[in-house]
Amino acid sequence: AKEKGKNCYQFYNSSLNDQITRKMNLESGLRRAIKNNEFILYYQPLVDLSTGDIVGMEALIRWKHPKLGVVPPSEFIPLAEETGLIIPIGEWVLKAACKQIKDWHDKGYHQMSIAVNISVRQLQKKDFVKTVKKVLQETGLEAKYLELEITEGIMLDVDELLTILNELKEAGIKISVDDFGMGYSSLSVLKHLPIDILKIDKSFVNGIVNDERISTLVKTIIDMGSSLNFSTIAEGIETREQADFLTRNRCNIGQGYLFSRPLPANEAEKQLEVIKRY
Ligand code: C2E
Ligand code: CA
Ligand code: CA
Ligand code: CA
Repeated sequence: AKEKGKNCYQFYNSSLNDQITRKMNLESGLRRAIKNNEFILYYQPLVDLSTGDIVGMEALIRWKHPKLGVVPPSEFIPLAEETGLIIPIGEWVLKAACKQIKDWHDKGYHQMSIAVNISVRQLQKKDFVKTVKKVLQETGLEAKYLELEITEGIMLDVDELLTILNELKEAGIKISVDDFGMGYSSLSVLKHLPIDILKIDKSFVNGIVNDERISTLVKTIIDMGSSLNFSTIAEGIETREQADFLTRNRCNIGQGYLFSRPLPANEAEKQLEVIKRY
């Protein structure tokens, strides 16, 4: 057995070691990152497909690690969830995002909403609703401009989730189901939960022009959404053809590189002027 262990070690060699070291570095780094101001929010426009107006922004976190450079959220969000650090990080995101959109309102860009990604760990926290209300109060942002994006994969206990979402809805906050269609429970989510927005996952958008089954599916999601009075957002729009298809089929809102990549606040602000051209 000893022999074998040794071989395994040699087989995995340095790359596994590197991965473990990186993970440990990231984890200890995460603990300090808020205090050291290493997180920054990028903003990606949400575009009304029928008018071309920007109607909101999605806040997307970036981590500028002093040694490792930019670490993508796909790498550190799962780690933050594992360690529970998503709680303080998520609260920072919420506060920073609400503050920024309020600032844009004050500059005359009225009516814009802000979409904030929420992890299940945050939702499960007993004082979550209280925290959200506190942030709204502190920033002076009206509740109706805040959209919380949750993924349908999360499945807490449905009753528990329902209670939380009802409280948020009562406070005037909007609920958006992120990555819609990717979970196994799409229809039961729609049946049970007080949601306002369906966000069609970018893997569907990717297939709408060339794959007839996918385009049929997307049309069905949009129709279903509108008959249930949900607003529909399509994410990951990269081409004119995709945007045209979605507009033709009355998807309400689009998001993707075609319109703009996620940008730091000052650059996103410039987009507020230009984007109508699309
Ligand atoms: P998501 O919420 O589904 O966000 C959409 C992702 O698609 C973003 O990746 C965005 O940059 C990317 N994207 C936007 N337009 C396009 C496009 O046209 N083509 C392609 N290929 N991609 C596009 P990002 O910023 O790397 O974020 C990845 C994921 O990390 C997010 O997926 C979300 O689940 C998570 N995340 C980001 N910020 C936060 C946060 O503040 N809190 C939490 N809990 N999760 C976050
Ligand atoms: Ca999202
Ligand atoms: Ca998404
Ligand atoms: Ca996604």
